Amino acid sequence: MTKVHNFSAGPGILPSEVLQKAAEACINFDNLNLSLLEISHRSKNFEAVMDESRVLVKELLGLNDNYKVLFLGGGASLQFAMVPYNLLRTEGTAGYINTGVWASKAIKEAKMIGNTQVVASSEDKKFSYIPKNYEIPTNLDYLHMTSNNTIYGTQFKDFPKTSVPMVCDMSSDIFSRKVNGNDFALIYAGAQKNMGPAGATMVAVDETILGKTGRKMLSMLDYQVHIKGGSMYNTPPVFPIYVSMLTLKWLKENGGIAWMEKRNQEKADALYTEIDRNSMFVGTTAIEDRSNMNVTFIMPKPELEPEFDKLWKTANISGLRGHRDVGGYRASLYNALPLESVKALIEVMQEFEKKFA
Ligand SMILES: *Cc1c(COP(=O)(O)O)cnc(C)c1O
Repeated sequence: MTKVHNFSAGPGILPSEVLQKAAEACINFDNLNLSLLEISHRSKNFEAVMDESRVLVKELLGLNDNYKVLFLGGGASLQFAMVPYNLLRTEGTAGYINTGVWASKAIKEAKMIGNTQVVASSEDKKFSYIPKNYEIPTNLDYLHMTSNNTIYGTQFKDFPKTSVPMVCDMSSDIFSRKVNGNDFALIYAGAQKNMGPAGATMVAVDETILGKTGRKMLSMLDYQVHIKGGSMYNTPPVFPIYVSMLTLKWLKENGGIAWMEKRNQEKADALYTEIDRNSMFVGTTAIEDRSNMNVTFIMPKPELEPEFDKLWKTANISGLRGHRDVGGYRASLYNALPLESVKALIEVMQEFEKKFA
């Protein structure tokens, strides 16, 4: 098989050894002579997978005992609704920082559930930066933010300081760098960017903030029901959870978050340095807010895009086109992407400049 440099924005690249083990488990899981896909989620073999996944999440995020970890269906998009449904009191107000498409979708859902206030926004400049120096009202039930803006390529380098419980959509940068998980009342992330395949969403929640909304709760949308059921109130997405566990184990065994943060910084530094040096490309976001996960850039001469596309496709590079809403290019440097793939891309960019500048 030819090695492909996979810059896909999501579902994204996974470590090849993880895919190998996942493939084996589809045929013969734990030497049961049964597939992982055809055994009960309540079997002790799968219970062990669930337990280990939870432990790894807590360990890698450094979470205290008051946090519960869930793996739910419905994608990160369902969390846009579940968060206000579980945390926004019927008489309360939720605060949101609007930094892009995903944050806007989260705001839309919250507005359906209760009072919602946009505390800060970067919509005025097409979400090309992270808002700074805004006031956070202290009466909010929670403050929601998106740590990494997958589509626009910006990332919070520092999080707000506030007494209001913070909720964070970390779908596209979870486990990519050191964060203090205990600073957040709730963290959620769809698995398919940095953790595993699509189909499972990780939710880590401080249990003490739940059960205060005054609303009658539908069971499937109630975090407390899922906590009580050990993430097995209904049949959980077993395969995505298993592969997420393998990925988290891979991360831990190779050096954990400290190793990953260093590796991700190296990849991002290399690529941004090239974008800034190369006359054929410009970055699209404020320099201090540049994402280490999704690197967005455009060409001052867009008429040459087909030529550049030919070059990178020939170099076995995949998934480089920008999001359909913003155009240009986006290189996603998720955890499993090796530095050598970034080097391959840089080589192509340099070759392109030599030919066409
Ligand atoms: C991809 C993404 C989502 C949407 O995830 P789904 O699992 O498709 O619902 C939400 N937030 C962010 C930051 C994302 O990158």
